Amino acid sequence: MIPNTNYKNLKDSYLFYHIAQKTKAYLEQHPGAYLYRMGIGDVSLPLCDAVIQALHKAVDDQAVKASFHGYMPECGDPELRRTIAGYYKKRNADLSPEEVFISSGASDELGDILDLFGRDKKVMIMEPAYPAYVDANIIAGNTIIHIPSGEAEGFVPQPGERDRADVIYICSPNNPTGAVFSRERLKQWVDYANRTDAVLLFDAAYEAFIEDEDIPHSIFEIEGAKTCAIEICSLSKTAGFTGTRLGYTVIPRELERNGMRLNEMWIRNRTTKTNGVSYIIQKGGAAVFTEEGQKQVRERIQVYKKNAKVLMEALDRLGIWYCGGKNAPYIWMRCPGGMGSWEFFDYLLQEIQVVGTPGEGFGACGEGYFRFSTFGSPEDTKEAAERLVKLLG
Ligand code: PLP
Repeated sequence: MIPNTNYKNLKDSYLFYHIAQKTKAYLEQHPGAYLYRMGIGDVSLPLCDAVIQALHKAVDDQAVKASFHGYMPECGDPELRRTIAGYYKKRNADLSPEEVFISSGASDELGDILDLFGRDKKVMIMEPAYPAYVDANIIAGNTIIHIPSGEAEGFVPQPGERDRADVIYICSPNNPTGAVFSRERLKQWVDYANRTDAVLLFDAAYEAFIEDEDIPHSIFEIEGAKTCAIEICSLSKTAGFTGTRLGYTVIPRELERNGMRLNEMWIRNRTTKTNGVSYIIQKGGAAVFTEEGQKQVRERIQVYKKNAKVLMEALDRLGIWYCGGKNAPYIWMRCPGGMGSWEFFDYLLQEIQVVGTPGEGFGACGEGYFRFSTFGSPEDTKEAAERLVKLLG
């Protein structure tokens, strides 16, 4: 038996490993030192009360025969699918509940969804990018067309005369750059995908962080998207579900390729490969969409947004170029003095004990840039920003 040899083509996931090694070495040399961890992509605030109450109630339901639930429908609790379709309606995206699939989170879906496309596909990945896009496609044996982006276009590339791709990834708000795609830019990609028969995979994991009124939260706010796009979203960053796990994927009924409806294919896939998401977790997830739940998750997001403001003010004072922060929990800055990403990482660690993420880890065009996350504590963020101003001012 020869296993999947594509695994041999994966590069070591060296970014976070390397960061861990370097911080460990620093702490060994400086016992008792405190590090300001501004690199984490995980949330730090707990679930909100509305979710906790719903989870407790759902646990109690499972203790009583009359309210006990066994297997859940593979594509999700119909009520939750309806609720999420309603959430989209508020954004002027008209979807039916049957177009919404409940999942265990975006990462799972980003890997599993490749089942829809078959083998030997060409996929376009705009970089800098969330590393899982590249790795999932290497494992699937697909050919990756890397589309580098840069400061000149605000790290938001436009379609051009490029190799034709079967699948195109768009992540807005973006990890790692925090940049957002405008309505016009998304329309360009939707038209491009419809023209070239490609499918857009739109990662909306950070949609809840958008504060600019005119920035779309969903690809389905764009005319023409229903015939070319799939959207993958998650409650991880919206509502602190990173360890609780709940997400949703939207596949419109109108999305067809070669006479096959991708929505129907996904129903077949889910009924084959999953037995649905836990009843308890879906009840917790439903609470996010209640009036109380929405209020509470927005309060938590505001805490991260205040952190972003503190960091952005520091960079503004220093006159350093950056993007992100306003509509995303990430800030992407140019390393000062022409430093490389890893050089700047070492400099911050050694001089002010601040740990961020070198941009080069998100694709070659990220070299010379650096990512700060806003998911840390307000106290640490404030101190890290002050240290940054003192060091670079
Ligand atoms: N997509 C992007 C762009 C992310 O940054 C992340 C997590 O950091 C995910 C998806 C994964 O989210 P989930 O926790 O739902 O698997």
